[in-house]
Amino acid sequence: MAKIGINIATGSLQQSEMIVGIDLGTTNSLVAIIHPELKRPIALKEHDSSSLVPSIVHFDEYGNASVGEVAKGFLETEPQNTIFSAKRLMGKSYNDVKNNAGFFTYKVIDDNTESLVKVQVGNQFYSPIDLSSFILKELKQRAEHILKTPVTKAVITVPAYFNDAQRQATRDAGKLAGLDVLRIINEPTAASLAYGLGLEKDDERTIAVYDLGGGTFDVSILKITNGIFEVLSTNGDTYLGGDDFDRLIIQHWLKEIGLTEDELHTNKQLAQTLRLIAEEAKKHLSTNEVFEFDTAILNTPKSSLTTYNLKLKTPNLRLTTYDFNLLIAPLIEKTITSCNNALKDAGLAATDIDTIVMVGGSTRVPAVKNAVSAFFGKPVNDSVNPDEVVALGAAVQADILAGNNKDFLLLDITPLSLGLETMGGLMDVLIPRNSKIPTKVGRQYTTYQDGQSGMRISVFQGERDLVKDNRKLAEFNLTGIPGMPAGLPKVEVNFLINADGILVVTAKELRSGVQQSIEVKPQYGLTDAEVEQMLLDSITHAKDDIQTRALVEARTEGEQILTVTEKFLTKNANLISKDEMLATANAMQALQLAITMEDKNLIQTKTEELNEVTRPFAERAMDAAISGAMKGQNIMG
Ligand code: ADP
Ligand code: MG
Repeated sequence: MAKIGINIATGSLQQSEMIVGIDLGTTNSLVAIIHPELKRPIALKEHDSSSLVPSIVHFDEYGNASVGEVAKGFLETEPQNTIFSAKRLMGKSYNDVKNNAGFFTYKVIDDNTESLVKVQVGNQFYSPIDLSSFILKELKQRAEHILKTPVTKAVITVPAYFNDAQRQATRDAGKLAGLDVLRIINEPTAASLAYGLGLEKDDERTIAVYDLGGGTFDVSILKITNGIFEVLSTNGDTYLGGDDFDRLIIQHWLKEIGLTEDELHTNKQLAQTLRLIAEEAKKHLSTNEVFEFDTAILNTPKSSLTTYNLKLKTPNLRLTTYDFNLLIAPLIEKTITSCNNALKDAGLAATDIDTIVMVGGSTRVPAVKNAVSAFFGKPVNDSVNPDEVVALGAAVQADILAGNNKDFLLLDITPLSLGLETMGGLMDVLIPRNSKIPTKVGRQYTTYQDGQSGMRISVFQGERDLVKDNRKLAEFNLTGIPGMPAGLPKVEVNFLINADGILVVTAKELRSGVQQSIEVKPQYGLTDAEVEQMLLDSITHAKDDIQTRALVEARTEGEQILTVTEKFLTKNANLISKDEMLATANAMQALQLAITMEDKNLIQTKTEELNEVTRPFAERAMDAAISGAMKGQNIMG
């Protein structure tokens, strides 16, 4: 299904590679694409099977991994080798998850509590990144099988509350699976995109995305303005979802069967069977009033439910919507409390929400939909399949990145400031952090020395005032500047970040037209954790940095004045009286001393004094070039 296009202008063939959208879920994962002919997102699936791949990895005795439905079959019977919910471990240390240790039926390694968790199966260790990569590999293979073309590029979604470490871990898992992860986007943003929200040019709205999946619940309040999705707040419960509904149903039936939970734990086969029936009951009740299951069907030698048949009050497992709703009411109530908190954090009232988007398989439960719609006071958007909606939206984003949807750009923001090194090693920020991209900023600089023919352009990323504390991205020399007095050349430096996040730096001397440019990937080689560390450092050192910057600025100005004055004296000795010469020499010496002492206030005073002394004769010999330099704008060496 790969498309081949012909560029009409050049006549050349263009093969546009399919970029897929992936929902890497806690419970289920899936792949979606924009159908090349239908031009709308579709979830990929083999004939007659579901698009959903359970996010479960099973390892056999030889360490071979299987993923999906097959692995799910081992959940109860081989809990030590069957890893579910690996997403919960992404970017976490054991300390982060130890309070929920009971949740994991497999071995989560706890010998080094600070480092990232690993899972032990047999004598092998797997990081959550390894585990997620197994799932992604499976998704990639399925997609390739269905599309009959290699799949190497993807957009992957993560919960809005994922921190940098968790996002980076997801990116790494993609890389490990052989995928070039073009972008990580928030699940609620993806879900909104699947509904076409934010795709209209002047669309401005506030959206609540309610996502109730298998094991997690979250609600996000988003604001869309001009194609920019801003997360105003998120709330939720990472241990609340459809699996809990299943558990409540099982507990309800156990009472009827006359079994305790402990007895169930000792019979893995029965536990497995009951869990499957409970989930089936729950799904059935989303569209029916009554569920009935004839346990006689289980009368096979393998099943052990029948061995308990004598204890059953009825031969059927039965559940009505009415009973089910009573069971889950407290859980639904919890999610509504979260919605309320999310609104509070966003500083909004329920009536401020324009659109409510339902995400996650568990929102198929009518009682859930009703509660959410009652809370927000309007009908919810549930027309897109809730367990596919995130992947479908990721496909929409993928299509935009592929350049197939040129009408609009999804904007991103820069994680760190970008700037140039100026005199004294100071960082001159051109694009502040959190700027929306694409963006373009230009600024003029000039030379520092007479006849200076080259200028070093050093590009840095970071929040600190001195470039030595930031990260150097690139450097180049603008050469061939025609000989001019210091301060006369006008060098315009432009920073342009395109929609792919590529920074292009151009330097041009405006009087002569000499030009040079370079391309850099600002994020390249910098992990999200490093970005976070750089931001933290900038906060910790903010006070020192301000003082250092003030000193460097004073020193640079002082040094400039000294150079210019010296030059002036040698050139114009005839214009200056002996007294003036002496006073100037003294003032220069005092300033030089202040600079050596690195005393900012003293440097400023002495600079001022030198200025006072030289003003009369400087005025007498007005030299355009010198006065230009003495204004001392941004000057670089
Ligand atoms: P996640 O985002 O955590 O990967 P999903 O969005 O795929 O999870 O949701 C999975 C949950 O949805 C499971 O608990 C599943 O039982 C539940 N679910 C799926 N279909 C239905 C349905 N028709 N009615 C009720 N719950 C459903
Ligand atoms: Mg999900």
